[in-house]
Amino acid sequence: MDFNEAKNRHEELVKIIEKYSYEYYVLDNPSVSDQEYDQKYEELEALEREFPELITKTSPTQRIGNTVLEGFTKVKHAIPMMSLADVFNEDELLEWDEKVCKALVMDEVEYSAEMKIDGLSLSVVYEDGVLQYCATRGDGTIGEDVTSNALTIPSIPTRIPLKGRIEVRGEVYMPKKSLEVLNKERALNNEPLLANARNAAAGSIRNLDSSVAKKRKLDAWFYYLEDAEKLGFNNHFDSIMYLKQLGFKVNPEMKKVKGKKEIIKYIQEYTLRRNDLPYDIDGIVLKVNDFSLYNALGYTAKTPKWAVAYKFPPEEVVTKLLDIVYTVGRTGKITPNAVLEPVRVSGSVVRRATLHNEDFVKDKDLRIGDYITLRKAGDIIPEVVNSLVNRRVGDEIPFEMITHCPVCGSELTKVDAMHFCLNKQCPSRSIESLIHYCSKDCMDIDGMGERVCEEFFALGFISDIPSLYNLKDYKERIIEIDGWKDKSITHILNSIENSKNNSLEKLLFGLGIKEVGSKMAKQLSKMFIDIDTIASKSIEELKSINDVGEVCAASIYNYFHDDSNLRIIQTLKDLGINMKYLGQTNISSNAYFFNKKVVLTGSLTNFTRTQASEILESYGAKVSGSVSKATDLVIAGENAGSKLDKAKQFNVKVISEEEFVNILNELQGGNL
Ligand code: NAD
Repeated sequence: MDFNEAKNRHEELVKIIEKYSYEYYVLDNPSVSDQEYDQKYEELEALEREFPELITKTSPTQRIGNTVLEGFTKVKHAIPMMSLADVFNEDELLEWDEKVCKALVMDEVEYSAEMKIDGLSLSVVYEDGVLQYCATRGDGTIGEDVTSNALTIPSIPTRIPLKGRIEVRGEVYMPKKSLEVLNKERALNNEPLLANARNAAAGSIRNLDSSVAKKRKLDAWFYYLEDAEKLGFNNHFDSIMYLKQLGFKVNPEMKKVKGKKEIIKYIQEYTLRRNDLPYDIDGIVLKVNDFSLYNALGYTAKTPKWAVAYKFPPEEVVTKLLDIVYTVGRTGKITPNAVLEPVRVSGSVVRRATLHNEDFVKDKDLRIGDYITLRKAGDIIPEVVNSLVNRRVGDEIPFEMITHCPVCGSELTKVDAMHFCLNKQCPSRSIESLIHYCSKDCMDIDGMGERVCEEFFALGFISDIPSLYNLKDYKERIIEIDGWKDKSITHILNSIENSKNNSLEKLLFGLGIKEVGSKMAKQLSKMFIDIDTIASKSIEELKSINDVGEVCAASIYNYFHDDSNLRIIQTLKDLGINMKYLGQTNISSNAYFFNKKVVLTGSLTNFTRTQASEILESYGAKVSGSVSKATDLVIAGENAGSKLDKAKQFNVKVISEEEFVNILNELQGGNL
C-alpha cells in the first residue's frame, strides 16, 4: 500500500471508529459487536505502525473513551484513568509477556491475573474516610459525576476507616441474573431487549434518573487502589487484599501467575468457566504485581505498559441443523428459521436461529442435516455463521424455499429478497398483527403479550383486531382456564377499554400498515389530525410529506383503499376507538394545565399513565416523574405512595383522578 492509499484508508477507519465509539461510549448503544470494532481498531493500529506520520493527537489510538454526557457534573481525575492494551490470542499474550521480561531484564515476571469485568470503570474518592464522589472514566481526564447512581449499589462503602484522600477504582457491572430479570420484564412489556450486560450497566449508571440504576440492581468489583505505594504497599495484590479489609468487594478469582505455563493455564481455565460465572467477563487482565517495576515499563498515551487485556474470541459453537421451519410475520413476511440441536452458547441454550430469507440460506448453502457454526458475539441474537461442508455425509437435504404459505396454503409472492403471504385472512398473520397491535409502542394493552395473544387466539376468543374489544364476553370462560384469576383478566379487559382513548398515532402504528413505523405514524397523525383525512390523501399528496417515499406513499394509499381494511376501521370506530390525534393541539395559555408541572401517581382507572401524560401534554402541561418544590400539581390515583407524601410535604396541590376527569370535561366544553 502506498502512502496515499494508506492515508485514505486511515481517514476512512478514523471516521468509522469515531462513529462506533460515539455509539458505544456516549449512547451506550453500539451498532456493531466488540469484535467488529476491535478488527477495525487493529487495522488502524497496523496502518499507523507502518506509516507513523499518520498518527495525530486525535487519532482513536491516542484517545481514551469519549466525551462526557451533558447533564452530569464534570470531574477532573487527579490521575488519568487509562485504558488497557489488548491482545487477542495466546501467542500475542505470550509475546507481550516476553516483551515485559526483556524490558525488565528478568526471566519471569509475577502478574496479578484478574477477570476483565465487562462493565464500566468507576473511580470512587474518599476524604478522611468519607465518600466524596463517584465518577466514570469519561475521556480519561474528565469523567462524569455519577454519585447518586453509584450509591444505588449497596456494596460501595460510603465510609472507610482511613484518613486522607483515597481513590479506589473498579468496574460497575450488571450481574447476569439482573439482566435476565430486566429483559424478561422488557419482553413482557414488548420493549426491545438490552443487548448485553455492559451496555445495560453503562446505560443505567449514566442515566440522569437514578431510580433507573436502582431498579436495575447493579454491582461493582474493585481492582485498583490509587497511590498504594504511598500507603506502604509494594505490590498490587496486597493492596487489593487491603481493599477487601476496608470493605470493598474484590473479585475472588484473582490470582498471582508467573511464567508461560501458569499464564496459559489461567486463561484456559476461565475460557471454560466464564459462562458459569454470575457476571460477564470479556477477557483476562494481567498486571505486573511489583510496583517498583512500573516506572521502568512506562506508559503509552493511552495505556500502561505494565498491564494487558487478553480478549476472548467471540464464542462459536458447532451444532446440527435439524430442520428449517417458517414463520409468518404480521405483514405476511415469511422467515425461514433454523431448528438446531440444542446447544449452549454465551450462557444460554439456543434451539432456534433466524435465517432471514431465501438468499441468506442459499448464500451459505445451508442444508438440513448439516453441522453448522453458531455465534453469539456478545449479542442476544444467535447467528448462523456457516455450514461445515467437510462434515457432510451425503444425506443432507439441499434448501428449497417454500412456494406456499405454511399456515394457510396461499401462494407466496416474492418482493426483492423476501417472500410474502398476501392472504390477509391467514391465521398466523392475524396472531402477529394482534401481538403488534397490543404492544407497548402501539395500543399499549398491558398483559396482552405474545403468549396471551397466542393462547386466546388458539381458544378462538380473539381472531382479529376488532375482536379484541369483545374479549370481555369470554371473561367467565377465561377464569375457568388454569392459571387465570379474576384480577388478571380484569386488568387486561381494563387495558383494552383504556386503549380506546389512545391518540391516533398509536392506532395508526398498531394497524400494521407496511412501511409505517411509530415515527411515521406520529408524523402523519400530527399533520392530518384524524384518520379520515389520512385516508383521503392521494399518493402524490402523501409523497410530498418529508420522509415519505414512493413505496411508503403507495403502501399507505393502498391500505386505505382496501375494502377489508376499511371494514376494520369502521368497526373500530363503531366500537368507540379514538381516531384523532391528541398531541399538542389543545394548547391555549388560559387552559387549566397550561405550563403546569404535573406529576402522576398511583393507579388510574380511566387511562394508562401514557394516555394521561399525553392528554396533559396536549394542554401544555409538563409531566414529570418526581415531585419537587417546583411541582404545581399532583394527580393521585388509587394506592398513591411516596409521591403523594412528598406532595404534602412540599405543599403541592393534589387532585384525584375524578377531579382530573371533571377538569378535562370542562376543558372540552371550553369552560375554563
Ligand atoms: P478495554 O475494555 O479494552 O479495557 C480497559 C477497561 O477494562 C478499563 O478501563 C476497565 O474499565 C476495564 N476492566 C475490567 N476489569 C478490569 C480489571 N480487572 N482491571 C483493570 N481494568 C479492568 O478498553 P476500553 O477503552 O474501555 O474499551 C475498548 C473496548 O471497548 C474495545 O476493545 C471494544 O471491545 C469495546 N468497544 C466497542 C465498540 C462497539 O461499537 N462495539 C466501540 C468502542 C469500544
